[in-house]
Amino acid sequence: MSDSLSRRDFLTSTAAGVAATGALDIAFPMRPPRPLPPQGRWAAKPVAVSSANGLRAVQKAFDLLLQGADTLDAVIEGVKIQELDPNDDSVGYGGLPNADGVVQLDASCMHGPTKRAGAVGALEGIKTPSEVAKLVLKYTNHIFLVGEGAKHFALQYGFKEEDLLTEHSREAWLHWRANLNPDDDYLDVPETEHLSARPTGTINCNAVTPQGDVSSVTTTSGLAFKIPGRVGDSPLIGAGQYTDNDVGAAGSTGRGESNIKVCGGFLTVEFMRRGMKPTDACLETLKRVVQLTEPRLLGRDGRPKFSINFYAVNKRGDFGAASLYPGRYAAHDGSEAKLRDLAYLYERPAASR
Ligand code: ASP
Repeated sequence: MSDSLSRRDFLTSTAAGVAATGALDIAFPMRPPRPLPPQGRWAAKPVAVSSANGLRAVQKAFDLLLQGADTLDAVIEGVKIQELDPNDDSVGYGGLPNADGVVQLDASCMHGPTKRAGAVGALEGIKTPSEVAKLVLKYTNHIFLVGEGAKHFALQYGFKEEDLLTEHSREAWLHWRANLNPDDDYLDVPETEHLSARPTGTINCNAVTPQGDVSSVTTTSGLAFKIPGRVGDSPLIGAGQYTDNDVGAAGSTGRGESNIKVCGGFLTVEFMRRGMKPTDACLETLKRVVQLTEPRLLGRDGRPKFSINFYAVNKRGDFGAASLYPGRYAAHDGSEAKLRDLAYLYERPAASR
């Protein structure tokens, strides 16, 4: 047990987590909510920023920030809404499974004030991998647990093992498998609109408290129908997200393999450390992604044939996000939670060969 975590804190917060009690109903809180300083003495503009699927997440996170919640508690409670939503097939419960029809979830988080990090990879049977990543961060000397070990760890803290497939995600997988090979023994089924593409998706959420404390979380079911055991960028500290409380935080959604090669979360924070604004830092990271893209993934105009986005906040509460192509992201900056336009490198998608 670490110096900063007494046995008493541990027992208190563990009990609170299992029962999901506490003033604001935060499971396993990093710390209890505490009163904010008077507004004139705020060190930062509080803000919550996420991928476009995170409108409810940024609303929730922002509400918690203004109730004095910890920065990491706020973003985890935000992304949990998507993880628990059976209709979001890119995250948590209802996420699209791997090639064997098994849902394997990835998540990571970083907490600026304590300089800690936690992550889980290829986690099966647990609906909220972001919470498990937070437990790794809070209660262990490690950073990254995977597979059976990660599940065992979650069960020890009172999480329930559940079937994460929904009717929709099972159907999508069966459909994908049937259409994989025209010569196999599964009869092809006609494409339907919602099952025709090979979808991706993830949620990243970053927040700054009025005191200027920063954190980030990214959680995903990863690339749909991936090779079993594949782990993407989301649970990799420095790729899926990164936080430095002296600078800010950044995270990513989109083609994970392209992010891993540039350590995009870390790189974006480093660009901000050198003085770039969040949006410019995200655009600079995207240029690095393009520079490191293999020819097979480029169109004949040299543009990538995939999508990837970066989201960033700095310690003062400035924020921004960017993508290869036009799109949207979600932010709550004190006025309202709303979708905003991403900055982008290219107006139009890559031309096909
Ligand atoms: N980045 C995720 C992964 O590669 C997928 C996504 O965001 O679409 O696992």
